[in-house]
Amino acid sequence: MKAGVRLIEVFSSLQGEGLWLGQRHAFVRLAGCNLSCRYCDTPRSREASAGRSWSAAELKAELSRLFKGKKHDAVAWTGGEPLLQAAALPALMRWAQGRGVKNLLETNGTMVEAFRLVEPYVDLASVDIKLPSAAGQELWSEHLEFLRVAPKKSCVKVVLTARTTKAEWRTLIRLMQEAGPDIPLVLQPATPRGGEQPPKPEAALFFLRQASALLKDVRLIPQWHPVWGLK
Ligand code: SF4
Repeated sequence: MKAGVRLIEVFSSLQGEGLWLGQRHAFVRLAGCNLSCRYCDTPRSREASAGRSWSAAELKAELSRLFKGKKHDAVAWTGGEPLLQAAALPALMRWAQGRGVKNLLETNGTMVEAFRLVEPYVDLASVDIKLPSAAGQELWSEHLEFLRVAPKKSCVKVVLTARTTKAEWRTLIRLMQEAGPDIPLVLQPATPRGGEQPPKPEAALFFLRQASALLKDVRLIPQWHPVWGLK
């Protein structure tokens, strides 16, 4: 597809996680994902054939309609993995910035070349680093290369589960030190669903202490949209 994108949904809501928590965002959920995480909260968006094709003009019209109704701080380009459709994103992101709206890229941090293409138009990349206990595979080298592309406008989110181990946590901290100890790190306890459980509070606090001792900006922020009853 040349200029359009395959989308699951476009909607306005409050950002429920990460550094820009509580801001009003227009969420553009793109179809398809290259991973298969156990804690995935958007399983229907994994399929590349999910949703339908939107032309760029159609998407801009829908975003314009949302922007007219309420002030939006950002467009959250999310998925699935939005970088699977990286070719279409620069023009759309430039268009959003031209309307005074920032671009938040929510990515699993594995598609480095696609990120290089989009990065000039991204205001913040929320990079979801996958621990092997949750992703079922080691992705450390992909994540490290990804964070090196734009460390000054990246933040890292890590979902903590009941299966998070101390050993993989030490590896995560070493990776963050290597990528840039100033990159903000958000610890997000898994929201219980689909058999995935959050860690015990004392375990989450242990991981927080370990990371805070060696990195500059570490925060523990659960997902808030389920608490607020929002999408
Ligand atoms: S990367 Fe995101 S969308 Fe893809 S499977 Fe993992 S949690 Fe789900």
